[in-house]
Amino acid sequence: MVIDSRDALWPNYNPPRDLIFTHGKGCELFSEQGDVYLDFLSGIAVTSFGHAHPHLIAALNEQAGQLWHVSNLFRIPAAERLAQRLVKESFADNIFFANSGAEAVEAGLKAMRSYHATNGNPERTRIIGFDNSFHGRTITTVAAAGNKSHMQNFIPSDQGFDHIEWGNIGSLRDAINSSTAGVLLEPIQGEGGIRPASKKYLVEIRKLCDKEGILLMFDEVQCGVGRSGHLFAHQHYEVFPDVMALAKGLGGGFPIGACLTSNAVGETMVVGTHGSTFGGNPLAAAVGNAVMDLLLDEECLAGVIRKGEYLYGRLSSLQSKYPNAIESIHGLGLMIGIKCKISNTDFVSALRDRGLLAGECGSNMVRLLPPLNIEDAYLDKAVSIVDSVLENIRG
Ligand SMILES: *Cc1c(COP(=O)(O)O)cnc(C)c1O
Repeated sequence: MVIDSRDALWPNYNPPRDLIFTHGKGCELFSEQGDVYLDFLSGIAVTSFGHAHPHLIAALNEQAGQLWHVSNLFRIPAAERLAQRLVKESFADNIFFANSGAEAVEAGLKAMRSYHATNGNPERTRIIGFDNSFHGRTITTVAAAGNKSHMQNFIPSDQGFDHIEWGNIGSLRDAINSSTAGVLLEPIQGEGGIRPASKKYLVEIRKLCDKEGILLMFDEVQCGVGRSGHLFAHQHYEVFPDVMALAKGLGGGFPIGACLTSNAVGETMVVGTHGSTFGGNPLAAAVGNAVMDLLLDEECLAGVIRKGEYLYGRLSSLQSKYPNAIESIHGLGLMIGIKCKISNTDFVSALRDRGLLAGECGSNMVRLLPPLNIEDAYLDKAVSIVDSVLENIRG
């Protein structure tokens, strides 16, 4: 029997009342009622290798029997190793570990201001953000994204952010001034609607930042860690940031975030500037390393690109079949958005009723974020559920 014990929680979430999952395996979730769901949400791009992956279970269990936590007052070899591996695979020279996406973004915002202050430009504190972006739910990350509905009642004063139109290089040029520290963007916008930047736009932004002496930070909390078919989404564009935030997929379901920096930025974050009690603790670092093992397997990223193209193609066919329900298909790798003409909320709940979990996001989109290692047969299964739901809505 389902006991409604939700009253002891803040009412800030609204999960379906009678759906409780008891366990998962790969891309499937099993409910208390005995139903099976195909998980194309992955805890919002988190369980990138599905549920109960044996390699991740082994890493967590092994660490759990040895040492959970010592704080960052002591060395954590697994965190040093994870940092070295991320550095080797990226633009970055050094890393700070956090526990979540918002914290990883905040660390980056502090580091950008620190860079300018340390280099004799303490007036450079303002950060430019973009329409429809999302960077988390702390006060600063809400202010960074500038989404009015998230800011209301929480942001008492100017927090040092300016906001401009996404995709318009002229508005960025106009917004930069002598107090600008840097620019923060998602190479593929997630919550605001699955919206990849164009290569031309990112190249122009990078050039403008270099010319003006300001920093470029990418928030790859959602689009990073293999989701795009590249280890980091910006590698697809061959445009590299000075600072990057990661989280979500990095722990495969164990909370961990990371802020990656070039040495010029990271070296300014000396003792006393920043910290976290839990960030990169032995448990999180052990699982992070296990996720890296899977990501760096040769087949993994090539598989994401191949499967992403396949899914994109199959969904595009559905768009042709149901032009009154689907407006367009967007995305890269296994981060795919279906822009709807019908209500995305109704669509997601109809999919769930038929056993497919998907997410809603901005611009009336439905997003599909299946595990990176999903088997092809499940892609077909998901497409056939989408097809049958649309057939019904039409009929
Ligand atoms: C989810 C998300 C965040 C926030 O991550 P939390 O772990 O919820 O704090 C930040 N940026 C982007 C792009 C995200 O998708």
